[in-house]
Amino acid sequence: MPEKTLFAPVSALAGVGLQREKALNELGIYTIEDLLYYFPFRYEDLRPQDMTSLVDQQKVTLEGKIASEPIIARYGRKKNRINFRLLTDQESVMVTFFNQPWLKKQLVMNEKIAVYGKWDARRRSLTGMKLLPFSDANSGEVEAVYPANQHIRQATIKKLVAQAFEGYASELVTLIPAPLVEKYRLVDRRTMVHDLHFPENLRNAKLARRTATFEEFFTFQMELQVLKKRDQTENGIAIQYKLDKIKRFIADLPYELTDAQKRVVNEICADLKRPIRMNRLLQGDVGSGKTVVAAIVMYAAITAGYQAALMAPTEILAEQHANNLTKIFAGTDVNIGLLTGSSGSKTKARRALLEGIADGDINLVIGTHALIQDDVNFKKLGLVIIDEQHRFGVKQRETLRKKGQNVDVLAMTATPIPRTLAITAYGEMDVSIIDQMPNGRKPVLTSWVKNSQVKGMLDFVKKQFAAGHQAFVVTPLIEESESLDLKNAMALYEQLQSAFRPDYKVGLLHGRMKSDEKDQIMQQFKANEFQLLVSTTVIEVGVDVPNVTVMIIYDADRFGLAQLHQLRGRVGRGKSQAYCILVADPKNETGIKRMKIMTQSNDGFKISEADLQLRGSGDVFGNKQSGIPEFRIGDPVVDIGALETAQLEASKIVQTANWQTQKTYQVLNTYLEHVMQKNANFD
Ligand code: ADP
Ligand code: MG
Repeated sequence: MPEKTLFAPVSALAGVGLQREKALNELGIYTIEDLLYYFPFRYEDLRPQDMTSLVDQQKVTLEGKIASEPIIARYGRKKNRINFRLLTDQESVMVTFFNQPWLKKQLVMNEKIAVYGKWDARRRSLTGMKLLPFSDANSGEVEAVYPANQHIRQATIKKLVAQAFEGYASELVTLIPAPLVEKYRLVDRRTMVHDLHFPENLRNAKLARRTATFEEFFTFQMELQVLKKRDQTENGIAIQYKLDKIKRFIADLPYELTDAQKRVVNEICADLKRPIRMNRLLQGDVGSGKTVVAAIVMYAAITAGYQAALMAPTEILAEQHANNLTKIFAGTDVNIGLLTGSSGSKTKARRALLEGIADGDINLVIGTHALIQDDVNFKKLGLVIIDEQHRFGVKQRETLRKKGQNVDVLAMTATPIPRTLAITAYGEMDVSIIDQMPNGRKPVLTSWVKNSQVKGMLDFVKKQFAAGHQAFVVTPLIEESESLDLKNAMALYEQLQSAFRPDYKVGLLHGRMKSDEKDQIMQQFKANEFQLLVSTTVIEVGVDVPNVTVMIIYDADRFGLAQLHQLRGRVGRGKSQAYCILVADPKNETGIKRMKIMTQSNDGFKISEADLQLRGSGDVFGNKQSGIPEFRIGDPVVDIGALETAQLEASKIVQTANWQTQKTYQVLNTYLEHVMQKNANFD
């Protein structure tokens, strides 16, 4: 018999075949644990009610005796209803069930039943939603309601949860140490899972949810703290860089570093020198100049005889970094290699590249996730830099770090996160912030136009073209299907082409193109062979073309604020005044507010704060973009108090645990195992 574990696939349950497993997977349920943590989104109060307290259109349970023979009436095409009278203690009410003819068998004259449904006060009638055996209605007070989909029913989920609880409750070892359960008046883990699904009353359900929220935050914080502790405890490399070389390199840059850049360079270099594993986050708004900071610290590692690696989320970004860094490093002994998916798999060039990396000839390797493939071996990797870190999972980051021995890691992000939330996202990292823009940078002027005003906008754009500038147009992924999106983009592309003919040319970049095709288009655009580039894929716009002075975003209300701010940051890097034009006819308040905030502020921190407030969490464009980890139960915005408490307690435990002996808190081990297992499932 296979080992009994919470991380077994749901197919381990009786009644879960291929079909059902797929349906569960669609709900994000892969393991038994996922199922036990698939929490109801609300509870129905099924307690029978007294007729005198009924409110019109409210959902209620009434119990009584079936007082008239239930009759099925058919009408329309395929429609039917069952009618009967229910005699309660006070009066006889009409009950109707629509389109559930199978219920007829269970409805027997003079039997006692309970019906959950919607009360119509004027007609004194009940539209039945659920038929409850008389005894059931009296035993449980509340019933869990789950998010379901068309492939799997509520009732099925419920049965499976019950089966899983019965079979695996013994595996639910406590994750919150008992003293904390007591201190914060929580419940133990088994009670928690039980009461989330099968609470006796709403009070218990609430308590269980409170516990679950704390558990989630606490375990998350434990992971961060333990990782941090590990980084501090295990020996790292002391990178003995050559200060004079670095100074000369900085002096040779075509501009002076901002004070903020100097400060973060010092912070990072101090880490490099210490014999610990650096795990640092470099945060700076778009355009604040993170790349040159990365260049300086990679150079530092190289002067000490180490290799450095820079991983970017897309090929275009990797190539852009390679181009920029090649320029920055001209005249030094830095030898750059670019490794991406399209470097081919078995080509001669790739083999040469891999050899160069393995024998240390290439001391700066830039690439995409191709960098973490098995056949990539470094001679002496000392520093890893990860650009736009939230696009990579913990796993990928760890894999790259393991290409060397206890290498230092610097993650870079352009996503400003409000201070209150920083602990959730970056608790395990030290943070360096570039909070200053390079001198002489003019803030981008942002305006919002309606679709009816597009013509005026195009006239404005023409003037920019006449002055020798270029423009980006971005359209969001609106439709569910990629092909529809493409159709939208094509339509816009053709429309703009005819608007600018014959004076100016328009190009199109979309996600379906092969990378060399994209590449070619970017090269042509950089060479100003066409003046306007329409793009569907937001990420690809993460590129630098200083000559672009206008960023036009269609259907801008469909983007989250953080994303809009990122997109806007793509312009305003040159000497000329830059513009961001949001084209949108927002249909709701949130959309309108977004447009207003964008036109009023250029400050990434302010914008992300406003963003969080506007959407709580769980917006269409989700937390993935914002860099805030997603939680299953807790909401880092709403439950910020619990989050802070969890962080405090986790840090106390980790700091006071005796790491030299095996006898550390058992919860540490349990938890680490838990996390490892969880991560293993994402392979
Ligand atoms: P981001 O932080 O968004 O990655 P980049 O590193 O791409 O920003 O820098 C944006 C632009 O600013 C680049 O063209 C870069 O050459 C320029 N830059 C960086 N630092 C300075 C500085 N101290 N003074 C002037 N320009 C700078
Ligand atoms: Mg950048």
